Amino acid sequence: MKISDVLKQNKQGISLEFFPPKTTMGKESFLKVVKDLRAYKPLYVSVTYGSGGTTQDRTLNALNWIRAETDLTVMSHLTCIGATRTSMDALMREYQARGIDNILALRGDPPKNVSDFDPALGEFKYAKDLVAFVKQYHYFSLAVAVYPEGHLQSPSIEKDMDYTKQKIDAGADFGITQMFFDNRYYYEFMDRAAKAGITIPILPGIMPIIDCKRIQEFAGVCNATLPKDILDRMEPVTGIAEDMRKLGVDFAVKQVEDLMKHGVNYVHFYTMNRSDSVSEILSALGFGGHRTMKAA
Ligand code: FAD
Repeated sequence: MKISDVLKQNKQGISLEFFPPKTTMGKESFLKVVKDLRAYKPLYVSVTYGSGGTTQDRTLNALNWIRAETDLTVMSHLTCIGATRTSMDALMREYQARGIDNILALRGDPPKNVSDFDPALGEFKYAKDLVAFVKQYHYFSLAVAVYPEGHLQSPSIEKDMDYTKQKIDAGADFGITQMFFDNRYYYEFMDRAAKAGITIPILPGIMPIIDCKRIQEFAGVCNATLPKDILDRMEPVTGIAEDMRKLGVDFAVKQVEDLMKHGVNYVHFYTMNRSDSVSEILSALGFGGHRTMKAA
């Protein structure tokens, strides 16, 4: 099912992001996490794609497993850096044949583990080029990535919004944000987006904090500010895995509650293929079949 239709039919809900397991041995544990979280009735689930096509087969396998073993709507992330139109055309045909109706169109970054990778060999420069390409098939529902604090390579927050508007205008049905830990960035982004004439749904991306070192690395790479109060709270529990995880759950619950109070109806969760934290967050928020997303 096309997510553009899902969003029209459901005025609120959550979505969940997974990465494809590294080996086929990981299939069972991957599907267990997906099935556990299915209890929270996500509007759709998405599977990431290694930049430069490095996980193309694994992403496709993971999407096929989910489709074969659940009734969930799926979306493939797809990066275009280094890709040719011919290779993308073959992939589009494969997606259509396999009933994968939804694509998160990304530029991506050069893969770190491929020494001879040459982005200049690719025929797409920016995500907007991929959006325009995929749009030609008149088949897929399309999402794009957006950055509340600006993309790391953007020359300014204003230019970032100009480019964001361009890729949305190329044919995106909805956007998903980069992780952020201070909701003010999201609210300010939404104000700027409205002024720029952006009207599609923009799903806030929530990353539960699980590990102090990793979250600081992620935040750095993603240009997401970790506020001082959360750093202060993390310090005494650094190295105490369960306490850190609980802190992450508590922080995410409060973050989403605040979003809901501000009238946000959809939330996208970066699950990191773990069901424990996300389950706890969704249960604490009252999901699992009984509750709607309207703030109390
Ligand atoms: P673009 O929108 O093309 O932007 C890239 C840079 O180019 C930005 O700095 C932008 O300002 C600039 N730019 C855009 N248009 C122009 C223009 N016309 N002229 C000049 N400059 C321009 N990565 C993966 O590898 N796999 C994934 O599965 C994945 N999933 C993601 C999911 C989400 C929700 C998010 C937020 C990010 C994800 N990423 C993923 C990361 C993403 O690939 C990187 O952030 C990448 O650096 C940018 O991709 P983009 O699609 O936003 O690029």
